[in-house]
Amino acid sequence: MRRLLLALSFLVTAAAQAAAAEPPTLVVRAAALIDGTGVPERRDVQVLIRADRIVGIETGSKAPPAGAQLIDLGTRTLLPGLIDTHTHIFLQGEDPAAGGYDVQLLKYPLAYRAARAVVAARRALEQGFTTIRDLETEGAGYGDVGIRQAIEEGHIPGPRMFVVTRAISTTGGYPLEGYAPEIEVPKGAQLIDGPVEARKAAREQLDHGADWIKVYMTHRSWVDRAGNLVSQPTLTVEELRAIVDEAHGWQRKVACHAYNGPGLQRALDGGCDSIEHGLEITDAQIAQMVRQGTWYVPTLAAYYYDPAPADTPAGQRDRKRVAVHGVSFAKALHAGVKIAFGTDVGGFPWSEAIAQEFAREVEFGMTPLQAIQSATTRAAELLGRSGELGVIAPGAYADLIAVEGEPLKDVAALKSVSFVMKDGQVFKSPPP
Ligand SMILES: [Zn+2]
Repeated sequence: MRRLLLALSFLVTAAAQAAAAEPPTLVVRAAALIDGTGVPERRDVQVLIRADRIVGIETGSKAPPAGAQLIDLGTRTLLPGLIDTHTHIFLQGEDPAAGGYDVQLLKYPLAYRAARAVVAARRALEQGFTTIRDLETEGAGYGDVGIRQAIEEGHIPGPRMFVVTRAISTTGGYPLEGYAPEIEVPKGAQLIDGPVEARKAAREQLDHGADWIKVYMTHRSWVDRAGNLVSQPTLTVEELRAIVDEAHGWQRKVACHAYNGPGLQRALDGGCDSIEHGLEITDAQIAQMVRQGTWYVPTLAAYYYDPAPADTPAGQRDRKRVAVHGVSFAKALHAGVKIAFGTDVGGFPWSEAIAQEFAREVEFGMTPLQAIQSATTRAAELLGRSGELGVIAPGAYADLIAVEGEPLKDVAALKSVSFVMKDGQVFKSPPP
């Protein structure tokens, strides 16, 4: 048996070596390359690709190997395919005047919502986001698992998807709400009470295809009489621990929506792997995140979108959120908290530029190179896929984009993505 294993491992190694020695089938050439690792930009580069993987990087214009196809992107800058670690393809930036969130669950057939989710997935890819972590379907059940499958099988274009399915909150912890108590309305998340129900919900979601578990650790938020932002905590530490323990047993991770206060504290004490939004994080909580290695996915730009009128309670809340958020981001960055790019797109319309988040990251202290890393190597690390995603290096998936302009001088250049390749397949090309 041992001899057979040795022989087999020799064959596997030999096959891998033979594969590495095979010539590339595709060469992508451009004036500059930012590889995602944080090293300085390289000039005059060629990326060698075979099938769905990168097999090499060369500098200086060399003739492509015989038989290889050349794609010359001229003066453009190449980057790894971008990663948005907080999206909602099943949301469309619901306009309150058009029925808001509630009509999604009450009036729209699931097929309608799935059709729009297909368009949203395509929008992400068009903008150079070749991977997304989609953080719950908002009442559309396991729809994300189906969209993920359709993309993987090549039926529709879209990014590589990490999905969470239904998400988890508590009674009183998620819409729909505000209806007569006698009427049973659908809820946008799976509601649990107690550690037994919490673990059962996690098991169900993992069983049906969740790559991650999403938990809402805070729900309503408002400004109190003293002018402080307050958010209502939802799950107890005990309930969250049951979910985290179950997910970790499956080698999956838990993303926690948490604004501030006791809900955020419970998220940290219960062992969340990523804090989503984190509007107001105390110094002690920042220290705890560093100690525990907790990720921070701030989704800054979303809170600037369409605030309620200033003279209303909702408007005051919206302004307070923005006022505290940038401060938390700057402190977390300075303290060395691990930060990954996430936008909450879907919470605002998919017609908006996803890349607007880069400018907010820079506004609150990141360098352009750090901002790019947050959506490439750092995001890949959050997803547990370092070396395969978010990087231009041999062995990584051939997920490449090219932009006009110089993103290291102005991150707004990341809004003008003119070339997108995923898995070695060109999805978008600049006009000839
Ligand atoms: Zn979200």
